[in-house]
Amino acid sequence: MYGPWEMAGAMRIALKYPERAAPDIRLGLTCGFDKCMQCGRCTASCPAAFKYDDYRPRDVMRKLQLGDRASLTDLLWRCGQCYSCASRCPRNNSVGAGILALREAAIAAGRAPPAINKVAALLRKNLYDRGETFLPSTFTFLGEFGPRTIKRCKDNRKRRVRLGFGRDDAHAHPVPDGAMREIRAILDMTWPGGDTCA
Ligand code: SF4
Ligand code: SF4
Repeated sequence: MYGPWEMAGAMRIALKYPERAAPDIRLGLTCGFDKCMQCGRCTASCPAAFKYDDYRPRDVMRKLQLGDRASLTDLLWRCGQCYSCASRCPRNNSVGAGILALREAAIAAGRAPPAINKVAALLRKNLYDRGETFLPSTFTFLGEFGPRTIKRCKDNRKRRVRLGFGRDDAHAHPVPDGAMREIRAILDMTWPGGDTCA
């Protein structure tokens, strides 16, 4: 069991060398999950709470306050990371940021669902190979966007070539070699599971 203070203080962006990393910059000093007063403003603004009956950011905060991370395991992946909750909280909390930290920990510990691990590995590979997480081809991989979006994406890839862009890059020119070396060095140091790209 972890208390909310422990989560806020111990989650690090650099997972491989946590003792050398700065505290997670997304969880600022004024944020305090133990200050949540269960007002529900986060939940009222949350699109994920609108879509999923079992998901409420206010409940997430309560579970964190009680140190109940275990029952959050499946719910972590409901959040859409829109940060509507953060902009409305009168206590300066960000449920979305806390969830992101918990997701990172779940992926690092191998507890994420297989589909999430697959997407995480794909985004990492894109970043490692091309310096971008989402490439046009990434959308065709994510079936949940639906057939219309995937078809539109395929059409856009042809249009991109006609306009002089790379078929599968967000830029007309590749990321410079020096920047790519830096990106790969950061990934090698921080990505859980070693320095090879799956
Ligand atoms: S808006 Fe802030 S204080 Fe209110 S329930 Fe959500 S996290 Fe707690
Ligand atoms: S960041 Fe997540 S928890 Fe916060 S409002 Fe958006 S979907 Fe809801």
